[in-house]
Amino acid sequence: MSNHDDNLTELYDKDGNLIGALITAQLWSSIKPRIMDLLPKEAPKEKPEPIGEWETLKQYWDFAYPVDMDVHCELCGNKTENWETDEPRKFRLMSCNLGGLVTFKCMHCQGRVTKKHFKDEITVECTEYVPEKSKHLEARY
Ligand SMILES: [Zn+2]
Repeated sequence: MSNHDDNLTELYDKDGNLIGALITAQLWSSIKPRIMDLLPKEAPKEKPEPIGEWETLKQYWDFAYPVDMDVHCELCGNKTENWETDEPRKFRLMSCNLGGLVTFKCMHCQGRVTKKHFKDEITVECTEYVPEKSKHLEARY
């Protein structure tokens, strides 16, 4: 028996069909790093909502109107009076900064709803979801 055969044993079912292979720990540890790149990747996990930044924005709220909790997606008609209390979320908080730029993802159509808070008014922009191209994911779709 060659060294190769000692490291690798092919497994067959009772009908002689190849069902898998058993390899030694030593061989596995040497080929694992190369194989891992070939295995299908799990879809990237969604980032947690940046609630802390939203809390900070509310804390330093210096606009001429109360904190606004309503979100409306013009693309699909999805809307809420208070996104914070929706369970599950109708809109996910994607980003938020102290300048008053707050971005949501519409959980219905994946569109982006951007609320810009100015001193005296709020403007809202809705943009369609554009899938992010990823080499790893391309083969899966
Ligand atoms: Zn939508």
